[in-house]
Amino acid sequence: MMFVSTRSAAEVGIDQALVDGIAADGGLFIPHELPAFKPEDFAGAESIPDVAGILLAPFFAGSRLEHELEPIVAETFRFPIPLTGLASESGTVAMLELFHGPTAAFKDVGAGFLAACLARLEADPPTTPITILVATSGDTGGAVAAAFDGRPGMRVVVLFPDGRVSERQAHQLSCWSDNVLTLRVTGTFDECQALAKAALADPALSSEYRFSSANSINIGRLLPQSTYYAHASLSHFRATGRAPGFIVPTGNLGNALACILAREMGLPIGPIILATNANRTIGDYFETLEWLPRVSLETLASAMDVGNPSNMERLRSMLGEADVLRERLGVLAVDDPEIEAAIRKDYEEFGFASCPHTATATHTWRRLDDAARRGEDWILVATAHPAKFETVVEPLIGRTLDLPPELAEILSRPARSVAVSPELDAVAEAMHKHFGRGA
Ligand SMILES: *Cc1c(COP(=O)(O)O)cnc(C)c1O
Repeated sequence: MMFVSTRSAAEVGIDQALVDGIAADGGLFIPHELPAFKPEDFAGAESIPDVAGILLAPFFAGSRLEHELEPIVAETFRFPIPLTGLASESGTVAMLELFHGPTAAFKDVGAGFLAACLARLEADPPTTPITILVATSGDTGGAVAAAFDGRPGMRVVVLFPDGRVSERQAHQLSCWSDNVLTLRVTGTFDECQALAKAALADPALSSEYRFSSANSINIGRLLPQSTYYAHASLSHFRATGRAPGFIVPTGNLGNALACILAREMGLPIGPIILATNANRTIGDYFETLEWLPRVSLETLASAMDVGNPSNMERLRSMLGEADVLRERLGVLAVDDPEIEAAIRKDYEEFGFASCPHTATATHTWRRLDDAARRGEDWILVATAHPAKFETVVEPLIGRTLDLPPELAEILSRPARSVAVSPELDAVAEAMHKHFGRGA
């Protein structure tokens, strides 16, 4: 299958889209057309890797990876993604737990898949290893570092804002093999992002290190995420004959777009509601029909602190503008006091400890009117393990959270990172010192 940019009709194959990350014209890659499935097409596909193999095959037709999809999928979906029923008196509701991967957040799926693809595309090694640059406000950098850790011919540079991520997040960004260089930048997340962009745009540095990016707009992170929506909806549909609705916590629309695409491809999915934090750009767009990106606000659901969701460009290009989108998607903005109340209530009502991001979805579900809550079967999407955000969650539920084993293992490793000022020269110097001079 060919991919086009959201900004022009120039076509590339998926292999190039994976390596480039972003189109030459600055747009995002989208599939030329979406495959159309019926639930019967997945007959006999029970496991997540089975479903992934069928769902993703059309996108890889003609790719160098066409015949390697099976091992790529097996490598990506190494951890469980359970759909857990919640005991509730006000309707049928379940939690899709996306946090059982190595860094305990849903981003492990996309990062793992992208790394598995790039490792194979780079297997015929060019003289210069590829260097993945990733600016992170917390979760992305850990997932990407974990996915690329120790892979030959591939390097990662993580840039994170010093003092602005949790202690556990900082550790999780800084405990990897020599092919991962972690830079703690004395600046903000925006400065980290600007640094990554400046490095990508610097001709000398980018030819020396062969930069690529693994941020959430890479199509290789988006596509595999549709798999868990396909699998969960098929399981529910097979068991009940009903297409479940999904409520998805959303910042940059990466995870939610994967759900929307699964429905567009014909999977049995009912209503989709986007749950944002106090960053209301999407909700305001649906209401006013005007796209007005803004500076992001800090909230308890920090991984969703996005004022200018970049995947909206993809959504508008693939589905339409706000007048169309608001007919097909719900949206609710959830503020910090509502997040805190939802964390308490989830623990009381379900015995489930929600992370602050997940709590935006549970709050949204409780805000549905009774008819909507009982009229559909709902799947709420849990995006991270609560123990990653223990300073928020533990006081609210009044107990200490156990660390999941994957996270405990990571946190027991020695950590190291290099402090740099938010200047390109400082980043280049740190890279030269760590990796040596490139070609
Ligand atoms: C990244 C992240 C989100 C937001 O995902 P998007 O794809 O940016 O919408 C939500 N929750 C957690 C825990 C995250 O790490």
